[in-house]
Amino acid sequence: MGSGLLVGGEWQDTADRIEVWNPATGEVLSTVADASADEALAAVGAAYDAFPAWAGTAPRERAEILRRAYELMTAEAETGARLIALENGKAWRDAVGEVSYAAEFFRWFSEEACRIAGDFRYAPGRDKTIVVDHRPMGVAYLITPWNFPAAMATRKLAPALAAGCTTVLKPAAETPLTALWVADLLHRAGAPAGVVNVVTTARAGEVSTAVLADPRVATLSFTGSTPVGKILLAQTAKRVLPSSMELGGNAPFLVLEGADVSRAVAGAMVAKLRNGGSACTAANRFYVHESLVEAFTERFQAALAAVRVGPGIDPATDLGAMVSVKERDKILALVDQAEAEGAEAVEVGAAPPGGAFVAPRVVRNVEHGSVLTRTEIFGPVAPIVSVTDEAEAIRMANDTEYGLISYVYARDHGAGIRVARQLESGMVAVNRGVASDPAAPFGGMKESGLGREGGFAGIHEFLETQYLAVDL
Ligand code: ADP
Repeated sequence: MGSGLLVGGEWQDTADRIEVWNPATGEVLSTVADASADEALAAVGAAYDAFPAWAGTAPRERAEILRRAYELMTAEAETGARLIALENGKAWRDAVGEVSYAAEFFRWFSEEACRIAGDFRYAPGRDKTIVVDHRPMGVAYLITPWNFPAAMATRKLAPALAAGCTTVLKPAAETPLTALWVADLLHRAGAPAGVVNVVTTARAGEVSTAVLADPRVATLSFTGSTPVGKILLAQTAKRVLPSSMELGGNAPFLVLEGADVSRAVAGAMVAKLRNGGSACTAANRFYVHESLVEAFTERFQAALAAVRVGPGIDPATDLGAMVSVKERDKILALVDQAEAEGAEAVEVGAAPPGGAFVAPRVVRNVEHGSVLTRTEIFGPVAPIVSVTDEAEAIRMANDTEYGLISYVYARDHGAGIRVARQLESGMVAVNRGVASDPAAPFGGMKESGLGREGGFAGIHEFLETQYLAVDL
């Protein structure tokens, strides 16, 4: 695996380099290429040139390359987990879990590659036959964030390649090493030169502006914050470019009257702490029925107190470092703001010195509408709001511009589903602390995004529908 740009099957160096940091120690791990806009456009050119041949390959051939990528990634899980734990900071268990989740996108879309179905039917007037075809769009530009450096890359690369698109991947500057490993895997699995290109850069805005203005680019798939998503939507609008957007979240976690508190706490631990809380699906605010709020808060706090905070690379760690000192400070500033508003933040356990660590916190006396209920925290801080009834919980849950995921703990599944249907979010976990699955449609309502990744829908983000009117 190189540390340059991957363009047309060759690793290329650049004049400038980006330093990649280990947030657990504050040390530089490595450096990677820092692409200019022109260098990124060369990657677009390589993807454009490779497209006709790749679009023309048998779906079975694309499927087998993706299947080999799944097998390689699974066999090399430890290498991947090491890169993720080192450059992202997350705990070893989360890093290993991410590699397995990431590999599953290769497996799922290797199965989907051969299942792209069209449609054939007679027009109601019998004057023609309607044939509906789905064709690969062309060059797909893929922008990924730092929180799941492997899984966000495979969640885009796998369906794009299965559909017959060629790709330019731009990973986050904080976590480029994992993306280079993923691209190298695909190369070894047999992806032809130019089908997967990687552009690492510290100049995300400048590079993406140039790429999205290039008429050779056919679609954008972005995962990241809502503000950056809006900038990109304005740019894609200029070219009427299709785009898939997985943006921010502000996930409510409802514990309704009659719910099993122990199960709710177990679910809260996963929903809050998976990935150190740095997930757009992380439970952001807890609305707990007044009859359960004391018991829930006490037990949640006790469970958090048992969490070991430390370097992700140490297998004994439960909660690793945040991705950077900047990210850590953003989280701590939110806690300060909450305290200034009158909430009571209880620091549970201790963060070791030296790295970008944040000890878990339970925040009591939180009012709905206060800063922690409005802002995506992206860290191990759990604000708890007491609610008087189900209707109030639903109203507060929906009182946000976001709509990615919600969690509902109810007396039984039926009650949970009834509430889920009233929630304005693209996904709802009912009596569970985690929902994501490569075989399910991932995506949000409202300002959490456009389109769906994974499931049966994911491949269609990279396919254009063409209708043929046939005179027979
Ligand atoms: P996060 O909160 O995850 O850092 P960002 O939206 O800032 O969210 O980053 C997600 C991805 O978007 C990263 O790959 C980052 O480099 C990229 N990015 C950031 N700013 C821009 C921009 N102005 N144009 C295009 N991409 C950007």
